[in-house]
Amino acid sequence: MTSPTGGPALPQQRRLVTEIPGPASVAALERKRTHVADGVGTVLPVFVTAAGGGVIVDADGNSLIDLGSGIAVTSVGNAAPAVARRVHEQVDAFTHTCFMVTPYDGYVDVCAALAEVTPGDHAKKSALFNSGAEAVENAVKISRVATGRDAVAVFDHAYHGRTNLTMAMTAKNMPYKHGFGPFAGEIYRAPLSYPLRDGLSGEAAAARAIDVLDKQVGADNLACVVIEPILGEGGFVVPAPGFLPALAEWCRANSVVFVADEIQSGFCRTGDWFACDHEGVVPDLVTTAKGIAGGLPLAAVTGRAELMDSVHAGGLGGTYGGNPIACAAALGALEEMRTHDLAARAREIGAQMTAHLEKLRANHPVIADIRGRGAMMAIELCTPGTTEPDAARAAAVNAACHQAGVVTLTCGTWGNVFRFLPPLSISDDLLDEAFGVVGEAFATTA
Ligand code: PMP
Repeated sequence: MTSPTGGPALPQQRRLVTEIPGPASVAALERKRTHVADGVGTVLPVFVTAAGGGVIVDADGNSLIDLGSGIAVTSVGNAAPAVARRVHEQVDAFTHTCFMVTPYDGYVDVCAALAEVTPGDHAKKSALFNSGAEAVENAVKISRVATGRDAVAVFDHAYHGRTNLTMAMTAKNMPYKHGFGPFAGEIYRAPLSYPLRDGLSGEAAAARAIDVLDKQVGADNLACVVIEPILGEGGFVVPAPGFLPALAEWCRANSVVFVADEIQSGFCRTGDWFACDHEGVVPDLVTTAKGIAGGLPLAAVTGRAELMDSVHAGGLGGTYGGNPIACAAALGALEEMRTHDLAARAREIGAQMTAHLEKLRANHPVIADIRGRGAMMAIELCTPGTTEPDAARAAAVNAACHQAGVVTLTCGTWGNVFRFLPPLSISDDLLDEAFGVVGEAFATTA
């Protein structure tokens, strides 16, 4: 079978010609078992040959609807035209020089664009890296140098990565941390605002968190507070209104660097450029990755120019950080976001998903909460009438969706949250069809 071409030209349909996974994927999975370390898992083991618009095509010729975007990465769509064009041009020009050796425009162009789109009108600078975890590590490095302090505050249910420092910052043990310690020190965890579970107003939840930081760490010892403005892996929790502004204000009053980890929530996903924008919160530093470059590995720390410049020359960098092809992809992704007003598209997708989810909740009391913003929505499944997590049901619904040709993802500390992250290039019809499948999956697993 010849591989179809990806991108938006790919037929936009759900089409199953074999079981999931089909024989070609099963054979490929066997090779994976032989050659790839078992610690590297896969959620849905179909081997991909093409993707674009709102579909993923596998080695057996199945066409699946994508509600995951490779974990919030291909927001502009897979093989999006501007991304593919700019990457092709860059590959033909040069592939690498190392920006720290001989620089090039693409890197500077991405930093200039980040200054424009990230929250706040102040003077900003950026540094580019390869992965989200690397960006978070560098945000901590910058905060420590700028403040001369050591302590780092993070929150319950947080996910910041899998490197040693970011494992310490991540909350959940299994599978992210289990057996991998000892972890980096000087990381302190504060309670998050989790409206379903704490019922607190944003102000009250912020006061609770600030009290922990004040009494157990001390503002004078704190370099930075790092927070996901909407939780990613931890369960798509949207803090109660007022929580983020109160926290940012406390940081400002105490000269603590306020770092927004927008790695999952950034770049139009939530219906605005960044999740912080919904409450007018202006972080000192923003970490980005995932949606920034249409699937190529790129990450950034963007922030107040004077903060970014507090680090000595040579203190930030890495061999591949801001690789020219990844930068070309980012410029292509930004072009797609602007040309097609993908923030507006995310709001439309969010409204459409919310309507489906409200209908679903009316019939399935296991759905305890519908939350999220824009095209970053989730439902939390609990034993009806309680907040007792029902991870088994989430797993069953997830498996049924996969069997029916819809790529879905779960998340959450208890694994009981079903999250929806379609590419912003998905059509209304495909989205409706996907939620029809989700509805059936709830019905058949009831
Ligand atoms: N922060 C957040 C909020 C994330 O969602 C992730 C990835 N899921 C990371 C950091 C780590 O990013 P990466 O996997 O690119 O290292």
